[in-house]
Amino acid sequence: MHSHFELVGQEIKGFFYDSPTADACDGCGLVLNGEWTNLDFEVGPQALDFGFSYDDAALVSMKCASLIGDWPGVQLVELPRSPGWYHLACSQILSYDGRRGRLQQLRVCTTCRRFREVFAPFTACLSPGVAVPDGLARTDAVFGSAYDHPEQKKAQSPSLLVNAEFAGKLIGGSIVGLSMREGRCEPERTTESVQ
Ligand SMILES: [Zn+2]
Repeated sequence: MHSHFELVGQEIKGFFYDSPTADACDGCGLVLNGEWTNLDFEVGPQALDFGFSYDDAALVSMKCASLIGDWPGVQLVELPRSPGWYHLACSQILSYDGRRGRLQQLRVCTTCRRFREVFAPFTACLSPGVAVPDGLARTDAVFGSAYDHPEQKKAQSPSLLVNAEFAGKLIGGSIVGLSMREGRCEPERTTESVQ
């Protein structure tokens, strides 16, 4: 079993998706394209190298972008109003294990048929046999809750994942604000301990 790691970042001030230019569902406010980039977003001066906006858009500094820019799966869009900052998305998509990750999906939207609330205690639990490839990968499942006001737009976001080798590259790059936690599933319940 290969270990993998979920990227965890500092909070970056601001709502990335709550923009008049984002296409979103009229019923629930969830944006239609989770990889949409808010080109008007401004990253504040206190932000570190890696973080997530209040509504979970992944944002990286020039230093981080220089390290990961040519990795498989990495998609970077520069933010014109924040020179040196990029919105990070990911094109390598892996199968999330909803059962062992204990995925909960609640309150379906009658307009777009998506769930307004999606959460799990184990957000980096991959299906059996799935290994994280080189570069950056993401879960096919997305997590997060719509706001109760549909006019306030929101995205649901995947977990961003790296394998052990690329976790080492991130550590070596001294990306400030970035931490990682090991991707786990719910431990299997057994009636007797097996040694
Ligand atoms: Zn909807």
